[in-house]
Amino acid sequence: MRFSGLRILKEGLTGNKGWAPHWRNPAPKKEYDIIIIGGGGHGLATAYYLAKEHGLTNVAVLEKGYLGGGNIGRNTTIVRANYNLPGNSEFYSHSLKLWEGMEQDLNFNTMMSQRGVLNLFHSDGQRDYAARRANSMRNQGDDAELLNRDQVRAMVPYLDFDNGRFPIYGGLFHERGGTARHDAVAWGYARGADQRGVDLIQNCEVTGIDVENGKVTGVQTTRGAIRAKKVGVVVAGRSSQVAAMAGMRLPIESHVLQAFVTEGLKPCIDHVVTFGMGHFYISQSDKGGLVFGGDLDMYASYAARGNLPMKEHVMEAAMTLMPVIGKARVLRSWGGIMDMSPDGSPLIDKSGIEGLYLNCGWCYGGFKAVPGSGFSFAHLIAQDRPHGPAARFRLDRFETGQGIMDEEGTGSQHNLH
Ligand SMILES: Cc1cc2nc3c(=O)[nH]c(=O)nc-3n(C[C@H](O)[C@H](O)[C@H](O)COP(=O)(O)OP(=O)(O)OC[C@H]3O[C@@H](n4cnc5c(N)ncnc54)[C@H](O)[C@@H]3O)c2cc1C
Repeated sequence: MRFSGLRILKEGLTGNKGWAPHWRNPAPKKEYDIIIIGGGGHGLATAYYLAKEHGLTNVAVLEKGYLGGGNIGRNTTIVRANYNLPGNSEFYSHSLKLWEGMEQDLNFNTMMSQRGVLNLFHSDGQRDYAARRANSMRNQGDDAELLNRDQVRAMVPYLDFDNGRFPIYGGLFHERGGTARHDAVAWGYARGADQRGVDLIQNCEVTGIDVENGKVTGVQTTRGAIRAKKVGVVVAGRSSQVAAMAGMRLPIESHVLQAFVTEGLKPCIDHVVTFGMGHFYISQSDKGGLVFGGDLDMYASYAARGNLPMKEHVMEAAMTLMPVIGKARVLRSWGGIMDMSPDGSPLIDKSGIEGLYLNCGWCYGGFKAVPGSGFSFAHLIAQDRPHGPAARFRLDRFETGQGIMDEEGTGSQHNLH
């Protein structure tokens, strides 16, 4: 089933009776060449690229809940390639290029909107860092523009420019950044993988990983044992728990991150705006809701909900940056479980066990990484060697200290990232 303008017109005129389900609902087979644990954005993208780029279709994605019910459906949908350090810079640049071709590639409307991401700065020191970051972005071939206070004011006049603590000095504008509809990304990859023969198996929780003589042989699940030659673990906030099934202790802590949405309003915020000093960022959804969030709840947890003190903190930051937001009514808040790594950068690597591969540590930035991560992880699993742009996402950097990518310079304290 392909989407096209003509098809939509025809279905619209004939009662929308011709649409078929986007994917099958197969029972698990006894054995696959490759099992991907986790049907979030990264797991589904991995399965898609395994099939599309490497012709590997005897693949199953095992999801304990429903496809897209994890962080992929809970994030604030920001897409960007504005990293500073080698390693991250080339990876996110590659990922953004995949975003730019995603809708055509998947034949699915992911509502990709390159509306621009504006990072505000509020001191000379922050401006210097923004300038360095802009240079790195340009060196990488991505776009970056340093805006002064007047240019920012012309773009986002509704902000409080003369706040006593955080006067706005200017901003770093990344025009190709923006937003996309998060669950449509999961659905698009799911549909593409299914069309190529991948089995997407929902309500199938992995409860054990079978290892014999240092080699993975399959998994135990709530729907029975399934054998596999290779297994990829892509379970975001549950990474430590699933890796522990194979006897591994990962350098990952799980923390809650909350987000908020207001009632629908007329278009008023054209870009993504971030206020790092106050831990606040905002954009407006296509339905009109103001979508915003802040920092982690600052304690390790597996609960996909947050606490009131962080809600208060985020609301205070919102009022500090843009007092006009006080007129909007918040409709909902929710939380997701973030897989925080010690340097705030991810892992895409082999484990110490043959045939077992790891993809985790995305912290609160893994949505924009979905296509790049899926592409690179599929390459690693298929070819047993790292994919260029993701080659620095090695597990052993936490053992040797070499190759640490501490983008925010916050040292080894996870929850400061
Ligand atoms: C509030 C919030 C805002 C965010 N904002 C942004 C943003 O603006 N931009 C950005 O880039 N990133 C953002 N993120 C981060 C981003 O959402 C995540 O980094 C990313 O979605 C994680 O990868 P995923 O999609 O594969 O995870 P998930 O969707 O969580 O997928 C993991 C899946 O594994 C499944 N699973 C777990 N254990 C098992 C098991 N034992 N067996 C089978 N399945 C299992 C889970 O059910 C889940 O579906 C945000 C996150 C949150 C919570």
